[in-house]
Amino acid sequence: MRKSSLQRQVILEEVIRENTHPSAQEIYQRVRQRLPKISLGTVYRNLEHLEAQGLIQKIESADGQRRFDGELSDHYHVRCLYCGRVDDAPLPLLSRLNQNFGRMSDYKILGHRLEFFGICPRCREMAEKQN
Ligand SMILES: [Zn+2]
Ligand SMILES: [Zn+2]
Repeated sequence: MRKSSLQRQVILEEVIRENTHPSAQEIYQRVRQRLPKISLGTVYRNLEHLEAQGLIQKIESADGQRRFDGELSDHYHVRCLYCGRVDDAPLPLLSRLNQNFGRMSDYKILGHRLEFFGICPRCREMAEKQN
């Protein structure tokens, strides 16, 4: 396997693993454990490439962090306000929402973004222990 395709393969594996919606920095930290010489720039470039190929999704969170997702279907997310963790929200897509809003808007609606936020189980547990 060529060096560049090996790098890309490792990066893809690290995005998909555990499905924690890692940022580019977090992916870089993980990939470095397996490919110690890789640079952050190479990781960024490969993430862009994997996204362009449709192998991963880029998700923009309301907190401004850009994260990557190995789950390719349209789905919602829930974000912890304490630690920033992002999980999938297992809610069926509100597919009629686009249509409903489209009817009251002059825009042609192509989609919507919905992000839940709250306190994740780990942070809840920690908060309870402190009380
Ligand atoms: Zn949390
Ligand atoms: Zn996701």
